[in-house]
Amino acid sequence: MKPTDSIRTIKGIGEKSEKLFYKLGISTVGELLNFFPREYDIFTPIQPIQSVKEGEVVIIEGSFVTKPHMANVRNLKILSCQIKDTTAQIRVSWFNMPFLMRSLKMGMHYILRGRIVLKNGMLQMTQPKILTREEYSRQLGKMMPVYPLTAGLTNHAVTKAVTAALKGVEWESEFLPAEIRKKYELILHKKAIQTIHFPDSKKEYIIARKRLVFEEFFLFSLALHRMKELKHSKPSSYPVDGDVYDNALLEILPYELTSGQKKAWEEIKKDMQSGKVMNRLIQGDVGSGKTVIAMLALAAIAKSGHQGAIMVPTEVLAKQHYEEFCAYLEPLGIRIGLLTGSMTAVQKRKMYQKTADQEVDILVGTHALIQEKVEYANLALIVTDEQHRFGVRQRELFSEKGKDPHMLVMSATPIPRTLAIILYGDLDVSVIDVLPANRLPIKNCAVGTNYRPQAYRFMEKEVREGHQVYIICPMVEESENTEAENVLDYTNSLKDMMPPSIRIEYLHGKLKPAQKNEIMASFAAHQIDILVSTTVIEVGINVPNATVMMIENAERFGLAQLHQLRGRVGRGSAQSYCIFMAGNASKETMERLRIIEGSNDGFYVAREDLKLRGPGDLFGIRQSGELFFKLADIYQDANELRQANEAAASYTQQDVSLLCKKYDGLRQKLQEYTGEVYL
Ligand code: ADP
Ligand code: MG
Repeated sequence: MKPTDSIRTIKGIGEKSEKLFYKLGISTVGELLNFFPREYDIFTPIQPIQSVKEGEVVIIEGSFVTKPHMANVRNLKILSCQIKDTTAQIRVSWFNMPFLMRSLKMGMHYILRGRIVLKNGMLQMTQPKILTREEYSRQLGKMMPVYPLTAGLTNHAVTKAVTAALKGVEWESEFLPAEIRKKYELILHKKAIQTIHFPDSKKEYIIARKRLVFEEFFLFSLALHRMKELKHSKPSSYPVDGDVYDNALLEILPYELTSGQKKAWEEIKKDMQSGKVMNRLIQGDVGSGKTVIAMLALAAIAKSGHQGAIMVPTEVLAKQHYEEFCAYLEPLGIRIGLLTGSMTAVQKRKMYQKTADQEVDILVGTHALIQEKVEYANLALIVTDEQHRFGVRQRELFSEKGKDPHMLVMSATPIPRTLAIILYGDLDVSVIDVLPANRLPIKNCAVGTNYRPQAYRFMEKEVREGHQVYIICPMVEESENTEAENVLDYTNSLKDMMPPSIRIEYLHGKLKPAQKNEIMASFAAHQIDILVSTTVIEVGINVPNATVMMIENAERFGLAQLHQLRGRVGRGSAQSYCIFMAGNASKETMERLRIIEGSNDGFYVAREDLKLRGPGDLFGIRQSGELFFKLADIYQDANELRQANEAAASYTQQDVSLLCKKYDGLRQKLQEYTGEVYL
């Protein structure tokens, strides 16, 4: 079978499992092979029973000291007995496997592998697998893949399908040129894919991962370099006359721009006046005031008689920007439009029409802005806010909506400048490195759950003083279905604990966009005092009157994400607070939380987090989970990123379109990667 063949060509995959795989975004053999394990289940050596701990999957060896006993609990048949080695004894139990009753013998020796759980105050092993000595020695040290799953599809089924695919696939020829593989010591793609699914050892895994990370970065870098070459010093059809930069807007702003904002704005003006196309990244920590910079640029474009558009990752944020822009720009005679996915077909059609007829000057919206149906009359400036939530391809699609429009990209991801230059290689970079002067630094504390009553009292006090509060609800590990329930339960018990005069509402990802917008709007209008929410509020939301943020289960988030969440407070002149509530107070958890407790600087936090985790921590919480890489992590794999960029640069210099025959494979791969026709 070929990588492009349907997964139905794999033996054992029928109509039903095809649908399930489809839910995971897998429809071809190649996609299945590129569906990497989330982590590995490692066969560790036999442990003395005395040393097993709750939550671990372990292997124990011993003999049964009681007869297997069968109990019926509701609809379950539970089989249990006691197993003993020289150090201790422990209960083991199986559900609905009554047939074991006959085969398990008292006094005989068994090797069992299973999870240790705490039940009625006692440790026990549940649902263990019985291993023969041969199985045990064969699998010892092996890493078994654990895939991210969807309901109805087991890990076993995915493993089986991957095994079959690896066996039957006709591999395409290697696409990385040999000189690159040699220089950076990279194994073949084929070998790396085989190994990433079934590594024999951690060492092999690392080598395979290195190759795949490199290729991911390399293709990314090639695409960027090519974009840069092609765009380089392109003349712009939308020059902006210096006269339009009147100070009308600056005058009605209720504050003066910070030095960082002024500098960024000067750079933008210069770009747009230069007669060439602007391609600029504005990088600034959360709360540094990027929105107003976008607004100034868009206003200048509108005043010049052109159109501009700003794309944001969520509906709530789109609405927020839209309202702010209306408030400032409509009095100046600029017409603003809103376009989001949740609007009715009629509303959308109207907005398409207005956009095509240039009856709106600035369009604010979500991904809806790059849908096929949207046609712009005269698109001269595109802005993407929170760029880390979009892919390079989406940025390109947006750009293709106009005829070489100016481009402004905004990001708060705290990446060091050296990395930013690589990751945004096609852009010039402006950094806003100061926060508005009226801000007091956020006061942080990392605490255990026993502090919760005190935290609630503190919130009450802040609410009484006219401020507002966010609580980020505890995360549920498994399915998203329970997310809503969880937020609801938390909100209900919070209501019981707070005086009835305090207005509490909740927000989660499963609500309809219209409901989300409504709740955010009433929070912004101070009709809600405490908002219990999942991380949906992470991105960009701006309610300066909110002064307290409490994050439950803070240990489950990456520090960069905690920093983004924290950025929802400290946006006004009042003192703000962030409470990181740790669900477990283990040493590692507290050590990590101390970093963010000790600093409000996103760059510092990201750097320290990396140091703490060290490059050896392969399955740690991904720092940059939202950045568009599948396997690679820009912090952990910064070295590969640099190498891949260097390699890509040398290729692009030689031959920008990779026309040379020997690059056939690479060119094709790049075409798949960027999803475009590439000559
Ligand atoms: P971010 O960079 O995170 O997108 P925003 O643009 O949302 O930040 O700005 C955060 C808050 O700071 C907003 O309430 C905005 O009005 C305010 N703000 C922006 N610039 C200044 C300034 N120069 N002085 C005071 N407040 C400012
Ligand atoms: Mg923002």
